Amino acid sequence: MGSKVIVVGGGNAALSSAIESAERGNAVILLEASPLHSRGGNSRYTRDIRYAHEEDEFTSGSYPKEELRDDLIGVSGSFDNPEVAELVIGRSQEMAQWMHEHSITFKKEIRGTLNLSRTNAFFMGGGRVLVDTYYKLIQKLGVRVFYDAPASSINISDCRVNSITAFLDGKEQEISADKYIFASGGYEGNKEWLSQFWGEKSRNIKVRGSRFNTGIPLRSLMGSNALMCGVEKAGHMVAVDSRSPEYDAGIVSRIDAIPWGIVVNKNCERFYDEGQDIWPKRYAIWGRLVADQEGQMAYVIVDSKATGKFMPTAYPSIDANSIEDLAGKIGLNADKTARLISDFNNGITKSGEDAFNWSNNGLPVPKSHWALPIDTPPYHAYPLSPGLTFTYQGVRINKTGRIVLKDGELENGFAAGEIASGNVLRSGYLAGFGLTIGTTLGRLAGGWEND
Ligand SMILES: Cc1cc2nc3c(=O)[nH]c(=O)nc-3n(C[C@H](O)[C@H](O)[C@H](O)COP(=O)(O)OP(=O)(O)OC[C@H]3O[C@@H](n4cnc5c(N)ncnc54)[C@H](O)[C@@H]3O)c2cc1C
Repeated sequence: MGSKVIVVGGGNAALSSAIESAERGNAVILLEASPLHSRGGNSRYTRDIRYAHEEDEFTSGSYPKEELRDDLIGVSGSFDNPEVAELVIGRSQEMAQWMHEHSITFKKEIRGTLNLSRTNAFFMGGGRVLVDTYYKLIQKLGVRVFYDAPASSINISDCRVNSITAFLDGKEQEISADKYIFASGGYEGNKEWLSQFWGEKSRNIKVRGSRFNTGIPLRSLMGSNALMCGVEKAGHMVAVDSRSPEYDAGIVSRIDAIPWGIVVNKNCERFYDEGQDIWPKRYAIWGRLVADQEGQMAYVIVDSKATGKFMPTAYPSIDANSIEDLAGKIGLNADKTARLISDFNNGITKSGEDAFNWSNNGLPVPKSHWALPIDTPPYHAYPLSPGLTFTYQGVRINKTGRIVLKDGELENGFAAGEIASGNVLRSGYLAGFGLTIGTTLGRLAGGWEND
């Protein structure tokens, strides 16, 4: 008989580690903080993975690991933990095949603003099916799953986890094992924690994913001298429709119209280049940009030429046949908005259908690409709020997946997924890489190469 293993968390990283560990004959217990009906954390909102690969059956072309590394450095500047970042990049090459062997099926192509069919593979049914498939699998493998079972504290001494306290069968209990894997996500669902960095603004931040990701195990590890990785305030934050619920809005709340139009704040000012780069490399900066505006609000305005060019939205656009009427409907000053759009249109030096027209040099805020005039009614607007996907700061791990302390490393304590994403992500993000971090580190923690 193998070891007794406790996995804390119930998303992709936890499930990947539970599969890996149970397949090796270990007795695995998985503690999911949420009830059964909302199990799976942020992982249940996902739809694709990014991984280095040769030509394969899941994507439309090869994506060498050097290119993936360059793309990551391009958005993040550098790695906090290069050793682990390299490990994740390298091991990503085996990921799609491993998922396929564990009953995940892929579809090939996706169109729209986030066109990623070469670099990313999209799985059938999205994250909900991914998570349900893995839960079925771990059940077959004999993993004992507890729902409504949040872990609240971790008892550590002499570089070992001795036990954890968790809510089990309706009461707080102390339980112990030979090995512990912490895969409980970030702390994006914890508004009190967020307010430490964001102050009052945190109230207006929508949490796109699970309300159960409150970071309690992470906080307990921090209190036990775990070394941290990643930037404190950093997180993946996109622009979402302001009409979205405060938690669990999922992917459909994201507004992808930005490169096709302009974004203005409540004072009718543009504040950033909407066409700076292709959307997959820029969509994750817009949440923060909107968070810095008054009331954490902004509006994207497009004209009818943009119709059908971006991901369909959950909420309908606000429409009007003139800019003045549109401004009135979204509460902006009509004259100022009309003047801004007229200046914008006049500032376009080389308009046309060419998406890469490198124009608008004359404007105080340039629009480097996709600078098409907004001149063809009906006009459409979407109200924008910051939508936090996940936080980056987490515990430092080493190349075996073990948690690093200020005075050593945890012999029997591992971390995987968002709780360790700071090892790879400093500030920016590349679409589809969250699951890659979770799957590769989850498998590592679950026993890949270190049992
Ligand atoms: C809307 C949306 C869309 C996304 N799309 C993609 C995508 O297409 N591709 C991609 O790669 N990434 C995507 N991401 C990011 C991705 O979801 C995460 O990076 C990834 O799922 C993290 O996996 P994880 O297992 O670390 O965390 P999670 O999946 O969030 O799981 C954390 C788990 O821990 C549990 N938990 C929390 N606290 C405790 C506790 N105290 N005790 C026990 N359990 C606890 C939670 O209930 C949850 O089950 C998306 C995220 C969102 C919100």
